Amino acid sequence: MAGDEARTVRCARCNRDAPAATGVFYGGELGEQIKSRVCADCWVEWQEAEVMVINELRLNFMDPESQEILARHMQEFLMLDGESGAGGTGSGPIGPGMADAASGD
Ligand SMILES: [Zn+2]
Repeated sequence: MAGDEARTVRCARCNRDAPAATGVFYGGELGEQIKSRVCADCWVEWQEAEVMVINELRLNFMDPESQEILARHMQEFLMLDGESGAGGTGSGPIGPGMADAASGD
């Protein structure tokens, strides 16, 4: 196939049409998801966050369990949680209505 360096994706995280992530070292289904749903900017952001996650949780690349934990963090960070958008529920990162249902009196 020809070089796909200028491919554009609709990013799951920032919701923009932007150049696809490059240098994705994940394989399989997860790798495909990243390549098709994450933009280059967000991928770079994750790579920075990843270092912090690894340090914070003391993850070990040799350990399959650590790899799984890291992958989960990544999916969360990149909003790749494999939910098909049928129903449109979780569209509210900000929830100002905390005291909303508080009908005192
Ligand atoms: Zn993005």
